[in-house]
Amino acid sequence: MPVTRFAAINELVRDQAIACGRKPDGVRLIAVSKTVDAKTAYAAFKEGACDFGENRPECLCEKALAVPEANWHFIGNIQSRRIPEIVGSATLIHSLYKPSHADKISSSARALGKIQDVLIEVNVSGETSKGGCRPEDALELVQYSCALPNVRVCGLMTMAPQGDAEVAYACFEQLAALKSDIHGKLNDKYAQSFVELSMGMSEDWREAIRAGSTMVRIGRAIFSETFEDARV
Ligand SMILES: *Cc1c(COP(=O)(O)O)cnc(C)c1O
Repeated sequence: MPVTRFAAINELVRDQAIACGRKPDGVRLIAVSKTVDAKTAYAAFKEGACDFGENRPECLCEKALAVPEANWHFIGNIQSRRIPEIVGSATLIHSLYKPSHADKISSSARALGKIQDVLIEVNVSGETSKGGCRPEDALELVQYSCALPNVRVCGLMTMAPQGDAEVAYACFEQLAALKSDIHGKLNDKYAQSFVELSMGMSEDWREAIRAGSTMVRIGRAIFSETFEDARV
């Protein structure tokens, strides 16, 4: 059986939540298994992982079948024609940022008799290489998606620029502020489920938790043999 660092990283995530005055259960660790095979994902499951992230629909479906007891999160770029597959396997879709995709997610979910949980991806940093809607368009997209019959909007997601922890922290704080702002403008019915902030990866999860993240998406720090983190 392959060995991963899931348990060690999970411990560090909980410690960081406590250090930031938060409840340790308030931050969910999503093990991003996109670079490893289903056997390695299963090893992490045995070490306690219940949530996994994938960015390709075919890998999401294959690994979700291999470890059906876990929650499978879709964190990749959405292509319209792959939406039925994604909806078939995803517990939560983190990367919705187009109204046309929201429509298609709702109709695919309806066909499967499910309500699809989604997060709206916001491009806070403005980097053109990143997906996500503009911060000023997020409220409208949240409200549009909330109104669809088979979609539940659970919060926001972002990716920070890499390389500078304080720049990443500022980006996460902006997403947290945007979430509060939108939360305050939603009907109670929709505000109730609009609680998640998916932010933080291998290099910046500490800053994300400090800024209020409820879900960190960590790949290399768990699965890569060559990942080095001076702070671990
Ligand atoms: C790959 C990926 C991650 C994990 O990144 P690491 O740096 O390996 O921790 C998180 N979120 C998204 C959207 C990704 O594509």
